[in-house]
Amino acid sequence: MSFESLNLDSAILRAIEESGYTTPTAIQSQAIPVVTAGHDLMASAQTGTGKTAAFMLPALNLLATPHELKSRGPRILVLVPTRELATQVNEAARKYGKFIRARTVSIVGGMPYPLQNKLLSQPLDILVATPGRLLDHMERGRIDLSRLQMLVLDEADRMLDMGFLPDVERICEQLSAERQTLLFSATLDGDIARIAKQILKNPKTIQVATQKEKHANIEQRLHYVDDMTHKNKLLEHLLIAPEVNQVIIFTSTKRHADVLAEDLYAAGHKTAALHGDMTQGARNRTLTKLRQGDVKVLV
Ligand code: AMP
Repeated sequence: MSFESLNLDSAILRAIEESGYTTPTAIQSQAIPVVTAGHDLMASAQTGTGKTAAFMLPALNLLATPHELKSRGPRILVLVPTRELATQVNEAARKYGKFIRARTVSIVGGMPYPLQNKLLSQPLDILVATPGRLLDHMERGRIDLSRLQMLVLDEADRMLDMGFLPDVERICEQLSAERQTLLFSATLDGDIARIAKQILKNPKTIQVATQKEKHANIEQRLHYVDDMTHKNKLLEHLLIAPEVNQVIIFTSTKRHADVLAEDLYAAGHKTAALHGDMTQGARNRTLTKLRQGDVKVLV
C-alpha cells in the first residue's frame, strides 16, 4: 500500500514525502482509512510502530476542510500522559502539518500559566495536552472547545496507570458528543476496554501487536540480594557487561534517583537522573543526551 492510496490531502502527502516515508506502517495502513471514514477507533500499537502518524495524518486531513465556525478553539485535542510525549506529538503535528499550516500548541504541567494563557488565546487547530493542566485551563474558561471535532487519547494505558482517568472523564464530559474519538494503547483489555466503552462510540478495533509479541525482545530476570552492598555490587556487575550499551534504572523515589545517579557517576559511568522535580529544560537536555548516547545510564 502507498500513502497516495490513503486519500490524504496533497499538502499532507508532501509533508510525508519530505519526512522520507515511502510506505505506511501496519498501524498506519489499517488506521488511516478507518479514521478518514469517520469511525471511532481503538488501536493497540506500541511506540515505534508509527502510531503517532497513524492518528496525526487523518487528524490533519480534517483540517484541510475549513470549519464552518469562525471561532479560535482547537479542532483536534490529543491527550497524552507525559510532557515528553506531548513534545513529541506536537513536533509530529508540526512536521506533518507544515504545508497545511496547522497551528499546534502543547499545554503541559510544570510550565508557567501566563505563557500558556497567551498560547491558548491565539487561533489554534491542534492542542496537545496532559489531562491535569488542560482541565485547569478549561475550568478557568481559557479554552474554546466549540470547534472540537476529534479527541485522541494517546498511550491511554499509561494515562490510566498515572491516575489521569478522572481528569480524562471530566474533559470528555465537556466535549461535543458529535466528536470522533481515537484511543491508542499498548493493551486493549481490562480497564482500557471499560473506558473505551464509556468514551468511544461503536469503535473499530485494530491490533497490530498481540500481547505475547509485545515483550518478545525483553528478557526479564529477578535477582535476590542480601543488602545494599550486595545490590550495588550486582548493579555494577550488570552495568560493566560488554553487551550493555544503555541502561535505564528505576528507583522508588526521586531522591534515591539523584543519589544513585551521583554514585554511579562517581564510579565512572556516564549517568544522569531524570524525575519530576527537575525543570523541563533539564529533563529535555537529559533526554537529548540519552538519545545521542552521551548518557549511558539513566536513573
Ligand atoms: P511512533 O511509533 O509514532 O513513535 O513513530 C516511530 C518512528 O517512526 C518515528 O521516528 C517516525 O518518524 C517514524 N515513522 C512513522 N511513520 C513512518 C513511515 N511510514 N515510514 C518510516 N518511518 C516512519
